[in-house]
Parts: sequence; structure tokens; C-alpha cells
Amino acid sequence: MIAADVLSKFHNVTIYEKNKGIGQKFLVAGKGGFNLTNSLAGTELADKYTPKEFMKEAILDFDSDALREWFSKLGIETFVGTSGRVFPKKGIKPAEILNKIKEKLNTQNVKIEYECEFVGFDENQNVKIIFKGEAKTIVADYYIFALGGASWSITGSDGKWKKYFDDIGVNTIPFESSNCGVNIKWDKHIVENHAGKPLKNISVSVGSTALKGEALITNYGLEGNVIYPLIPKVRELLKIQSKAEIVIDFKPDNTIEDLLKKSSTKKTSSKNYGKIFNLKREQLALIKSYSTKEEYLSIDLFVRKIKNLSIQVESLRNIEESISTVGGIDTHELNPDFSLKKFPKIYCIGEMVDWDAPTGGFLLQGSFSMGHYSAKSLI
Ligand SMILES: Cc1cc2nc3c(=O)[nH]c(=O)nc-3n(C[C@H](O)[C@H](O)[C@H](O)COP(=O)(O)OP(=O)(O)OC[C@H]3O[C@@H](n4cnc5c(N)ncnc54)[C@H](O)[C@@H]3O)c2cc1C
Repeated sequence: MIAADVLSKFHNVTIYEKNKGIGQKFLVAGKGGFNLTNSLAGTELADKYTPKEFMKEAILDFDSDALREWFSKLGIETFVGTSGRVFPKKGIKPAEILNKIKEKLNTQNVKIEYECEFVGFDENQNVKIIFKGEAKTIVADYYIFALGGASWSITGSDGKWKKYFDDIGVNTIPFESSNCGVNIKWDKHIVENHAGKPLKNISVSVGSTALKGEALITNYGLEGNVIYPLIPKVRELLKIQSKAEIVIDFKPDNTIEDLLKKSSTKKTSSKNYGKIFNLKREQLALIKSYSTKEEYLSIDLFVRKIKNLSIQVESLRNIEESISTVGGIDTHELNPDFSLKKFPKIYCIGEMVDWDAPTGGFLLQGSFSMGHYSAKSLI
């Protein structure tokens, strides 16, 4: 949509969408905390993306300040939340934002053709579509593909397009979950009594990367803002050694010595651990479940568990329910302006390309920046 906005001031632009409406995933994203972008700007923002060099130019060229200004010109004011995430001003619904974008495209004569499914390329790399059941070929000077990743297929982003790029010799990478929960073999007691409870103000680490935040205990494992940014590391470990460990620190602001001091001033028994260390039932249950009896009953060892509870991750949650996916078009296939090296009249942008970023507004920002950058190269 942003590419169409930029280009339509200079060229005839048509958007082809297989659904009856565009922006379905944008609307889904808007159902939760709708982070349009993040308040990080410039290189700090660009540093959030992998591969860094691949995304850098596009992000620096159209960063979060530029995107917020673009929204503002559409009449969508934004504000920075406490976590640095950028939200639309209170009261503005996601559908309203989408409508404002569509109205702008309409005034700039962008045609939107619905129920047009891209189904491959002809021998000249022109685009074949199925339009309401009828096969057609579209001949254009340039094609910009923004077909999305492979999660939440109900929104239209089902990743089925991948094979059409394989067919013309463009390397693609299998899709994998990103920004997703992790599967853990919980003890029955945890599932029955603590699924649905949050673990607030914790720190979670994988290898040398530690993050503070919140996680949610679910009946299959853990979800939450402290888990999602660690997924690239977990994915890597699962690939290399087919197992991964996350380590929870329930008291990141206290040292082991601080905690031991607390216990020395009070009557200490495992029955009053909750009071002494200010731990909730679910935290105690998790520690118990990952400790031997001896570890749980010894204050010294228990305190070490509070600071360092190692939990084995079995696997990542499935692609369908992930917030985003990695995989898709191999970044090595693309020029810096996101056109294909083999077929420079074809551009690929957004989540369909194999880049990654955490939640917090970085995914939409990345997609908007790529759209803006690719379009600018065609003006
Ligand atoms: C639950 C959830 C919450 C999220 N929350 C946020 C958030 O708060 N902040 C944030 O930054 N990101 C968020 N995201 C991620 C963000 O929505 C996506 O990264 C972003 O929408 C990707 O944009 P895109 O344009 O690349 O692809 P998409 O938005 O997925 O759009 C791809 C489009 O291509 C169409 N299409 C696919 N195949 C074909 C075909 N063969 N022919 C024709 N059309 C086709 C699809 O129907 C779709 O309309 C969230 C995602 C989910 C699932």
C-alpha cells in the first residue's frame, strides 16, 4: 500500500489482492496492542533487524519518524507508549487507518483488484493470476510483490506463492515460526493449576542473551514479550543440538546475596518461601517442579534456583499461530532496492522476504520501509 502511494504520483498502479479486502493481517495486528512502529529511530531502529546490512538502508531512509509523519498526514496521530511502542491515538480503530490509506490510494487513482490470486510467471516472467476463476496474464513494466509470510493463513498470507518463485529459479528458504511461544513439557500440576498465569518482572536468558519482561504460562509452554525476542536464539539451538534451554531469573533486581540476606532475618522454612522472597504460587510451583527435594529444601540452593531456573524447550509453536515467520525469498536473491538480481523488474518486499525482527512495531515498520524504499527506486 505504501509502495502504491509513492508510485501512483508518477505511474499507473494496480494492486492485485486474492482476498475480498486488503490489509487483513494489518487488521488482525490491530486487534491486540496495535504497534504501528517503535519510537527507536535511525541506527538504533535499524539494529533491530536481521540481517542488519540487508534492511539498514531502507530503515534509515524511511524510519519510525518518517512513518509516523506519513500516518499523521493521513490524519492518524500516534503516541509512544511506556515500552517505546508506537500506537495510534486512543479511539482510532485499525479499520479506520486502513480506510484512510485506501481513500488516499483511491484519490491517487490506484486501482485495487480483489479476488486476484497470483499463480506463477509466464516464460517472460510476466505475472499469471486467477481472477474470479479465470486465468489471466498481467503485463506490467514492474511488479512489486508483498505477499506476506506464512502465519495466520486466514488473513490470506499462506505462503503458497513460494513455489512460483522456486519455479523461476529464485531461491527460497523454508518458512519457520518467529515471534512465537515455546513448547515445554510441563509437569501436570503446572498445567492444571497455573496455565494462564503471568510471570511478571522476570528476566529470561538463552545463552548469553538476557531480557527482562513478562511471560505467560500456557498449557503448552510459555508465551510473551520476554520470550519472542529470544526465539532466533532458541531456533538456532534447536537446529544445532535439537534441544534448547531457557533460564529464568525470578528476581532480576536482587543478587543471590540480597536474597540470602532476606532469609537470614526471618524464620526460614520452605513453607514461607513465598513471603520471604515475595514469590507467587506459580513461581514457587515452577521452581519446585524443576528442583530435587534437596535443592528445594536447602535455602542456599533454593535461592540459586530463584535466580537461575533452567527449563528445557522442546520446540517452537507452529507456524500458523506465530506472529511472524522467517523464510521465504532468500535475501541473497535481492538487490539493495529489493528487486530480484535475476529479474530486476520484479521486487519482493515485506514479510515474504527472509528477514527477522522482534515484536513491538518493528515488523510493520520493516514492511513499510521496504515498500517505501523499493517504490522510491522506481520514481
Ligand atoms: C496476531 C498478529 C499481531 C501482529 N501485531 C503486530 C503489531 O502490533 N505490530 C507490528 O509491527 N506487526 C504486527 N504483526 C505482524 C504484521 O502484521 C506483519 O508483519 C505485516 O502485516 C506484514 O506485512 P506484509 O505486507 O509483508 O504482508 P501481509 O500483511 O501478510 O499481506 C500480504 C497480502 O498478500 C496477499 N496474498 C498472499 N498470497 C497471495 C497471492 N498468491 N495472490 C494475491 N495476493 C496474495 C494476502 O492476502 C495479503 O493481503 C502481527 C501479526 C499477527 C499475526
